[in-house]
Amino acid sequence: EHSAGSEGQVSGAKVIAQALKTQGVRYMFGIVGIPVTEIALAAQELGIRYVGMRNEQAACYAASVIGYLTGRPGVCLVVSGPGLIHALGGMANANMNCWPLIVIGGSSERSQETMGAFQEFPQVEACRLYSKFSARPSIIEVIPSIIEKAVRSSIYGRPGACYVDIPADFVSLQVNVNSIKYVECCAPPPVCMAEASAVRLAASIIRGARQPLVIVGKGAAYARAEEGIRRLVEQCRLPFLPTPMGKGVIPDNHPNSVAAARSRALQSADVIVLFGARLNWILHFGLPPRYQPDVKFIQVDICAEELGNNVRPAVTLLGDINAVTEQLLEQFDKTPWQYPPESKWWKTLREKMKSNEAVSKELASQNSLPMNYYTVFYHVQDQLPRDCFVVSEGANTMDIGRTVLQNYLPRHRLDAGTFGTMGVGLGFAIAAAIVAKDRSPGQRVICVEGDSAFGFSGMEVETICRYNLPIILLVVNNNGIYQGLDTDTWKEMLKSRDATTAAPPMCLLPHSHYEQVMTAFGGKGYFVQTPEELQKSLRQSLEDTTKPSLINIMIEPQAMRKAQDFHWLTSSKM
Ligand code: ADP
Ligand code: MG
Repeated sequence: EHSAGSEGQVSGAKVIAQALKTQGVRYMFGIVGIPVTEIALAAQELGIRYVGMRNEQAACYAASVIGYLTGRPGVCLVVSGPGLIHALGGMANANMNCWPLIVIGGSSERSQETMGAFQEFPQVEACRLYSKFSARPSIIEVIPSIIEKAVRSSIYGRPGACYVDIPADFVSLQVNVNSIKYVECCAPPPVCMAEASAVRLAASIIRGARQPLVIVGKGAAYARAEEGIRRLVEQCRLPFLPTPMGKGVIPDNHPNSVAAARSRALQSADVIVLFGARLNWILHFGLPPRYQPDVKFIQVDICAEELGNNVRPAVTLLGDINAVTEQLLEQFDKTPWQYPPESKWWKTLREKMKSNEAVSKELASQNSLPMNYYTVFYHVQDQLPRDCFVVSEGANTMDIGRTVLQNYLPRHRLDAGTFGTMGVGLGFAIAAAIVAKDRSPGQRVICVEGDSAFGFSGMEVETICRYNLPIILLVVNNNGIYQGLDTDTWKEMLKSRDATTAAPPMCLLPHSHYEQVMTAFGGKGYFVQTPEELQKSLRQSLEDTTKPSLINIMIEPQAMRKAQDFHWLTSSKM
């Protein structure tokens, strides 16, 4: 019996909540207001966890992480008009990352449509660009099937965002409880396998490779293919590289990882197996000069339309990564083969890794003040719990941090992603912390933010404190976007001029005490300028499991990354 009201009546809000619950939705993030407050209340009453956030954008980022971490979508609940518009950033980010997500938006009364109703906006149309599926139920009775379709669409095929529009008048409308039929929870996505002949061809191309490379993307992480891919890499002794969020599918410290020789590995490989990674900007489109012009790509992906983007692959394996990896393993079980560990290729890669690591270590050991990025990250890595989530965003903060901070578990790194979105960090950290609290209490979330990146969703610190989440925020503070100025130069520059004419657009206020945002809400705040202060504050933050904390780490405002042969992640840095 589904929460029947008086005389066997049930409200639209309760129908929505029950339909979500029936589809296995466990987490809802949002901001309440007209007309969705009743939906949040009804959901909470049914045991769906509700997390109230401070901006719909961050709420939507948070909800999308639930989908990535659990394989079933989280819900972002927003009010009409501006509420939904704010959530579009999160929908776009989820869709670009191929992460499942359900957005439920209240919308204005149907009877006032086109009249200039409160917060009226063409929401279903607006969401089409940002989603796989966008619809408004025509009557309350079809809400369960629309919600089932949204949930199913979000996880079947290539995962993505789905939108369901709920007119205000549906929320309180009472209908006869017997008129509502809840659709059974949709089954997990059907598993598809690659064509047998393509699998055989792929295996023979791998066997013939002189300089093979496996690339592990976040699609492999999402697919939970860690066991199979690890077995393949180990059994065939193949070098592998993770993409940013592919980190941890195989632990970063695995002997077959050639992450520290990334550019060289990409540039010289003659056969590359792509497990759930698109040949987009993150992988330099698969084109020269970053790759050999005749490199043979073996693409494994669930999305047929993805296959052949930017390159002509040697063979395409359309199917679920887990299933396809098993198919490949079958080939190598039948006729065992391994890439010779004494090959010149391995030697080249090992040498390159060594020299690259030496440069980073050298930078890290510099003890001039203010600190540089490498010094900061080496000290953080020293104390990082092995099972923690690492959330990260920023320009240099994210790029350099990724090379130093290690992931040992799959789906434990969350960052700006395919869309290069800044402002995702706090929402991601909140969702990861909530999942961690449910799954493995005691697990920590370390959120490494540039000072600019932190600003996009900074008020979510209140959310973190309200729910007392096990999050440690590190703000790597260089007083600006890419680079900033020290206090003296800043003051000098603005002496006799107005800031809007004189302040460099990259500059943020020097010497900002971001840690006070945390203390304002009862968390612990630290302002650190030296390696010793950093070590101590980190130790205290990790020991204190009763409170979230924020460590504001002052670094050299002009600090840069080490010289690169190529500019790697060249787009969308803040
Ligand atoms: P990265 O950013 O790590 O390079 P991308 O987001 O570009 O990764 O690519 C992930 C790819 O994984 C997408 O093309 C998506 O279609 C694919 N994918 C997602 N889930 C699966 C799955 N279960 N099986 C196969 N491919 C998948
Ligand atoms: Mg900065």
